[in-house]
Amino acid sequence: MTRRSSSPAETEALGERLAAELGPGDVVLVSGDLGAGKTTLIRGAARALGVTEAVTSPTFTIGQTYRGRLPVSHLDLYRLTELDQEDPALLDDYVTPDAVAFIEWPTAAALRLEGITRRVELRHAGGDEREIDL
Ligand code: ADP
Ligand code: MG
Repeated sequence: MTRRSSSPAETEALGERLAAELGPGDVVLVSGDLGAGKTTLIRGAARALGVTEAVTSPTFTIGQTYRGRLPVSHLDLYRLTELDQEDPALLDDYVTPDAVAFIEWPTAAALRLEGITRRVELRHAGGDEREIDL
């Protein structure tokens, strides 16, 4: 389903709605260009899952795990161009059966990650407008 958002708050609210459909073991791939709102959407989803810490982009690590009503992992694989050549255990700390994991990655088409249960795509649509496939 494609939705439109006109503000960061609306994108967070769409993240909240998405969260209502998620549970332990879900792995959500969030794709879209830089600034499309991937982190913003994940922030809203994490809030709805009970995370009270500030959700920002992981900078010096590939990911971060928050404690919500269940563990919530947030990964940003932006700098990884060739996931195939990475250690397969790279994601093991984050993608676990008890957690909801959100994975930001712009190159979803090339993706060969196992275990993706949900895909979200965000697109710039002029100014603050975004199109979001949920
Ligand atoms: P990404 O993680 O995809 O690079 P971010 O969520 O970090 O994107 O940043 C999105 C930027 O765009 C923020 O600066 C935010 O304030 C701005 N923005 C403007 N309009 C929107 C919108 N409708 N939805 C999400 N972010 C928006
Ligand atoms: Mg981001």
